[in-house]
Parts: sequence; C-alpha cells; structure tokens
Amino acid sequence: MMVQNKTFELIKRLPKAELHVHLEGSVTPEFWKHLLEKHCPLDPIPSLDELQSRFRYDSFQGFIDVYRDIIFSFRSPHDFYELTQLYLKNAVKQNIRYVEMMMTPWFIIRQGIDLDELLSEIDRAAKEIEKDSDIDLKLIFDGPRNFGKEIVQEVFNMAAKDRTGRVIGVGLGGDEKNYPALLFIDCFDYARAEGFNTIAHAGETAGAQSMLDTIKLLKVSRLGHCLGIPRASELESLVFEKGVTLDLCPLSNVATRAIASIEQHPMFEYLQRGYPITLNSDDPGMFTNSLTLEYETLLSLHAVSAEQLGQLSKNAVQGSFLNKTTKNRLITEIEQVGQDFGQ
Ligand SMILES: [Zn+2]
Repeated sequence: MMVQNKTFELIKRLPKAELHVHLEGSVTPEFWKHLLEKHCPLDPIPSLDELQSRFRYDSFQGFIDVYRDIIFSFRSPHDFYELTQLYLKNAVKQNIRYVEMMMTPWFIIRQGIDLDELLSEIDRAAKEIEKDSDIDLKLIFDGPRNFGKEIVQEVFNMAAKDRTGRVIGVGLGGDEKNYPALLFIDCFDYARAEGFNTIAHAGETAGAQSMLDTIKLLKVSRLGHCLGIPRASELESLVFEKGVTLDLCPLSNVATRAIASIEQHPMFEYLQRGYPITLNSDDPGMFTNSLTLEYETLLSLHAVSAEQLGQLSKNAVQGSFLNKTTKNRLITEIEQVGQDFGQ
C-alpha cells in the first residue's frame, strides 16, 4: 500500500501535457449555470442539481445533445475568457505544463460571436495565467465532420485567419461512422499545405478501419480515442511505422458508453504492447474528470510502474507539436522527477 501511495504522489509531481481536451467540454455544471444566469436572467434557470443530472449520458448521442445545449448558452467573447481561465487554473493545479486545446469555432460563430474577438479573449485569458505560471496554451480547431466537408473546410479557413498565434493545428470530430475519413481528404491536404499540424478523432465509435483510413488518407500525426487496435495488425504496424501518437480518453469512453466499463479500456494492454499512448481528459467539465484522475484511474486498476507513468508523460511531450528544444527541456524535467522519486 505504501508503494502505491508513493506512486500517486509521483502523478502529482510529474510535469504533464494534455493533448486531447475540448474547451467547450471543460464547461462544468457551475459554469453552465453562471452562463445561463448571465445571459438569460429573465428565464427560469435550472438548479445546479438539474444541470448536474444532465451530465450523465445514456449514449454518445446523449452527450452530443448536452454539448449542443451548452454551446447555445454562449453569447459573448468574454464567456471564453472566463472558460479559458477556469480550465487553465485547474490545469496549473495539476502541474499540467502544456495544453493543445481543441475547440469547434463554427458552432460558436453561429452564436453570433466574432472570430477575432473570440480568439483575442482566449489569448488574453491565457496570457494572464501564463505570466504567473509555467503553462503554455495552444489551440486546435476541430472540424465537425457530420456537417460535411464544406463546413470542415470553413473551420480550417478560420484557423488560417488566427492573428494570436495560438492556433497551431486542425482536427476532425463527430460521427465517424457516417462521415468517414475519405470525405475529408481535400480539407486535410489544404491544412497541411497551409502549414497546420493535423489530428483526428478515430476509433471512438467506428473501430480499426476508421483508424486505418484516417492515418492513410488524412496523414494525421495523432489519433484521438483509438479503441479496438488488433494486435499484430496492419493498423498496429502503421502506427509504429508512421510514428502516430494515440491520445486515449478512458473516462470519456465510459461516460459516453463507448465501452461498458473502465476495466474494458485497453490502456494498459496498449502500454504493454509499447504503443505511443497518452492519457487525456477530453471534456473534463462534462465528464467530471481531470488529467490527474485519468492517470490515477490507470494506476488504481493496473500494476503500472513509476517508469511507465513517466513514459506516459514523456509520450505526451513527444507527441505534441512543441519545438524540439522545449520538448527536450520538458523531458529532462520529467526524468529528473522520476529520478528524485526513485531515491
Ligand atoms: Zn475529443
């Protein structure tokens, strides 16, 4: 028991990076209530209990329905200043040092919010936190695949209009079963030509073929979720050959019922197979989780060594879009914490 307590302490002390997290999904029930009170003061506002109960989902679609209702509650660029601060303050407490945060600006712009103002409010919020803490925020614009390739292209065009320097990549999320990778080849060719880094959700609800197509056709650097990689398969070989990082979101997969229980999540199996996996919270407000809780969950369920925990943190730095110098600095810090811990 002593050893395990000590390893939980290591999780706190490890410098961490989070690569798969959505800004809109970091809305907590309390923040949602705050938005409703701020923007709809004359409407009957649901109680905190009622809002909390909506954060339990019976399916992936159930989750999407709540996500959509949250988006409708945003009315001003300042909402995103507040939300960015909420996420980053929490991240600093977890010793998260670098974040590549996804957001889906298309939904937000449809709410009548100006893209430039939105980005400058996020930038202002991040700068204030970055000034006092050792954390760095970058953004990835996520294309909503179930709205078709034109809308995804529109989102990628928005990324090219960023003037803050925060947007460093684009991604693809939503219904991968009915909107396969094949539909978005042109969008990703455009994004790479514009110099953007690329990622995509794959293997959240549509299995190995979706992941295989996403790597081959969209040529992304990272996949998000990655459930169902068969051992000794073409997909496994391709992951190693192309050096694709696999961003796992275990508690998210339980919350949206992508898997029946956390015990069924392949994270430990993947770690044993030597896959370049990272752990991520995905939508920490909406799932009431955190990056730290993802690490703790892995440790509670499996015989993970201190070295493997350090490896997960190093995988996130290696798989990130940071420059080589910063990567090396963070990896040295992670190794140092590991050494101190072992003494
Ligand atoms: Zn996601």
